[in-house]
Amino acid sequence: MIYFDNAATTSTLKGAEEIFIRENREDFANPHSAHAFGRTASKKLEDAREEILEDLHLEKTHSLIFTSGATESNNLALKGLPLHYQKRGKRIITSAVEHPSVLNALKELIPFGFDIVILPVTSEGKVDPETLKNAMTNETILVSIMAVNNEVGAINDIASLAKIVHAFPKAYFHVDATQAMTKLAFNYGDADLLSFSGHKFGAFKGSGALIYKKSIAFESINAGGEQEQGFRAGTVNMPGNVAMAYALHEGLKNLKTHEQSVRLLHDYLQQNLAQMEGVSMNSPQDALPYVLNFSLTKKKASVVVEALSENEIYVSTVSACSSEEPVSYVLEAMGKSEGDARNSIRLSFSADNTLDEGKRFVEVFSTIMMGVQDR
Ligand code: PMP
Repeated sequence: MIYFDNAATTSTLKGAEEIFIRENREDFANPHSAHAFGRTASKKLEDAREEILEDLHLEKTHSLIFTSGATESNNLALKGLPLHYQKRGKRIITSAVEHPSVLNALKELIPFGFDIVILPVTSEGKVDPETLKNAMTNETILVSIMAVNNEVGAINDIASLAKIVHAFPKAYFHVDATQAMTKLAFNYGDADLLSFSGHKFGAFKGSGALIYKKSIAFESINAGGEQEQGFRAGTVNMPGNVAMAYALHEGLKNLKTHEQSVRLLHDYLQQNLAQMEGVSMNSPQDALPYVLNFSLTKKKASVVVEALSENEIYVSTVSACSSEEPVSYVLEAMGKSEGDARNSIRLSFSADNTLDEGKRFVEVFSTIMMGVQDR
């Protein structure tokens, strides 16, 4: 099998699996239980929280809420924060290529009188800092822009965007860093709020976090107990979060070496695919090498992806989160034609992938392209 769908989810690291099993076996108590066993579990959870903040150099300035993943983190940031601070202003700015968990969470604020401004992106899928600057007003309380786009791998200039947001004292800057964690180093402290999921870097599905500046407060969006500083009700997934802290630590430690090996594979595929008849590259030249997106100009992408799947080669059309949706709104926002936006393929890598897999992919893909009828 060749798995080139790592932006959808990764396999789990062995070390993370061992931690998960051990913590579930040995220290399975509820971290909120008021007995010594519960306190042991609580200590492990707090150590994991501290380790993550320290690894991101945020321990002095930020706090962390464990969530079930980036979808929940984005919902808490984008609904919980504006509902708490709505007296300060009701303008929120985001971009056209954000994940549905950002765009749809913000849509839910419209009936509460919020003004949601959706910025266009460049043909490379990025937010131009000038565009953000022109959209900022004193009414703006929140700006949400992703670090790396999940469909094409476009990288935003978080430092420049943060500077613009922070010129407005009432405005907070949320960064959806789901596709960036362990893959792109940036100054995490530029973000007032940071969302991510553990399963994108070798931890488990159902683990994630929202990191936030210590001074920020939220309305809890799920009613219940007082867990996670009163901002996120529900029993905390201690084993999953301890495993996530481990996977993040390992991923950050290996970020450079992993990037080098992934770049070799990415460049090989990019060069070979770009030369092929009927293939048009979508990922910008300076995209994160973990994602390579291209469109088929003559064939149906869904047919080709299915044929690849029959050969045990797993890739995505559009993204796993919006596979029901035939047109990529990300590619449309980048100005691609409707045909290209309907027929894109995303390859996404991990450090486990090899150049040999890339060679095999090119072979099988070329054969499939010759065999599949034009659309
Ligand atoms: N944001 C981005 C950029 C993503 O790629 C994803 C996952 N595809 C999410 C948010 C949501 O993550 P999860 O499905 O783990 O909640």
